[in-house]
Amino acid sequence: MLSKKVFKIAIASGKGGVGKSMISSSLSLLFSKERKVVAVDCDVDAPNLDIWLGGVNWDKIIPVTDSLKAKIDYRKCDRCGICAEKCRFGAIKMINGKPVINPFLCEGCGLCEAVCPKKAIKMVPVQNGEIKMKKISRNLVLISGGLFPGESGSGKIVDRIKTEADKTEADIEIIDSAPGTGCPVVSSLKGVDFSVLVTEPTLSGFSDLKRVMKVVNYFDIPWRLVINKWDINQTISKRIENWASKISAKNRKDIVLGKISFDKKIFQAISNLKPVIKTNLPAKKEILKIFSDLKNII
Ligand code: SF4
Ligand code: SF4
Repeated sequence: MLSKKVFKIAIASGKGGVGKSMISSSLSLLFSKERKVVAVDCDVDAPNLDIWLGGVNWDKIIPVTDSLKAKIDYRKCDRCGICAEKCRFGAIKMINGKPVINPFLCEGCGLCEAVCPKKAIKMVPVQNGEIKMKKISRNLVLISGGLFPGESGSGKIVDRIKTEADKTEADIEIIDSAPGTGCPVVSSLKGVDFSVLVTEPTLSGFSDLKRVMKVVNYFDIPWRLVINKWDINQTISKRIENWASKISAKNRKDIVLGKISFDKKIFQAISNLKPVIKTNLPAKKEILKIFSDLKNII
């Protein structure tokens, strides 16, 4: 499969904080020793792949203006107050007899523009996020992005980030998906060739794994499983493995790609901006095994 012109691997999890970015960054660094790679941070509500890759100073920042907000032309406004009365989001308040828009509350629905008798309100595009790029090494480019606080449209910005990633013409795209099963996850998983699902042995981790698996299966994406911090709860870990072995038996392939042990030193390494595979921690060896097995599968 790796012979495809561009091979896209999404690292996904139903739950946040299970180790997706650790695996995405490690696979990006490892694949980039052999191929041209773009690491794509689609976790737009909490992007941090740059930190797992050792911290970066961005080469390029592209503004994203996908949002519309209401703007009042006070020269036309006669202070009738209809807009404030009609706005269902409470985004317009009459202050000292004058309508004032709170941009954090404005959802861009356009109702005020439609009801204003003086045509004093226009919907205008505003910057709601940005896309950032960094060439980390000869073979590795990082593309990240995010929405500004209070802004909506995370699925749209994921699409924009992925379009920028496609322009790099890398051989391999490693997509660090948003957690959960909502719009940004669906956008992250669209068009990928393979997915590594990451979970941890907690009840919520296990339950969210099953939810994200449904999305992956919906798109008919081949996938394998990594259990991170497997030793923090060996009972639940065993339960996940038993569940996985039933799926493995049904599909006649082992779906557990690997397990990674819990190690507080991983967080120390990251706080020193040292990628895990550049340490000598036990997790490095476990990730190298995952990388090698993954290459045999794809
Ligand atoms: S509806 Fe139009 S004219 Fe009336 S207060 Fe609002 S902006 Fe001004
Ligand atoms: S665009 Fe909609 S949400 Fe924004 S101020 Fe106008 S009515 Fe309120």
